[in-house]
Amino acid sequence: MDGFEPSTSPSRTARATPAPHPVLELYQMLGTLYIVATPIGNLEDITFRALRILKEVDLILAEDTRITKRILTHYDIKTPTLSYHQHSSDEKKNRIISFLVNGQSLALVSDAGTPGISDPGNELIDYLLEKEPKIKIIPLPGPAAITAALSVCGFRANKFIFLGFLPKKKRTKLFNWLKEGKISFAFYESPKRILKTLTVLSEHFGSDRRVFIARELTKIHESLYRGTIEQVINELQQNLVKGEIVVVMEGK
Ligand code: SAM
Repeated sequence: MDGFEPSTSPSRTARATPAPHPVLELYQMLGTLYIVATPIGNLEDITFRALRILKEVDLILAEDTRITKRILTHYDIKTPTLSYHQHSSDEKKNRIISFLVNGQSLALVSDAGTPGISDPGNELIDYLLEKEPKIKIIPLPGPAAITAALSVCGFRANKFIFLGFLPKKKRTKLFNWLKEGKISFAFYESPKRILKTLTVLSEHFGSDRRVFIARELTKIHESLYRGTIEQVINELQQNLVKGEIVVVMEGK
């Protein structure tokens, strides 16, 4: 059953269906590109729909095919993969277009979570739509480290600013803007930089500002740290910080 996919099939009650315009017919032959969210650690965090689509498509575009193979092997999915990442050439992108123009359906996945969230994905969509505006792009929502972290941070997160990875330059300007906005903000950070970043945040926002750190979400060593920036720095100094990290700062 495919009842949840947007359908182009005529309604049952329609009496006479006019023959489609030849150009329209051509468009209907275009393949679909599914943007598929995959787990951020725990392989069980994948939707039924994602598994079905990954099985049904002709080809899976993967950021790192070796990482994606782990999920595919776990779920016994035999669909071929092709690498697509942020450095992929225009030639690769044009090849992807030709698959779609030839009616093949593709799924795009990233190494973890939702493609397009601090991952390659959106620039491919932009490129495809510029060349072939009629290509159908369908999102399959699922895990993202940012939403998992916000869901347990304990701060009001009905409004938040997501910064992806912090920029390397002009941070003071950004921090001043965030201070003025008084809205909670979140970003992805590397374990190597986390202590330095928290120290800088403490200088800008005060050591008593509440912060939340989500480390290795959904994985065996998942750990969550809550407290003032000062408390969290002390706690992290006592534990060797490794793994993937999301930081949420309370707005005030
Ligand atoms: N597309 C992904 C998503 O939907 O969350 C994000 C990809 S981004 C390249 C990778 C960063 O996301 C990591 O450096 C880390 O900051 C964060 N991240 C990914 N998985 C995580 C996890 N299981 N726990 C904590 N942070 C994670």
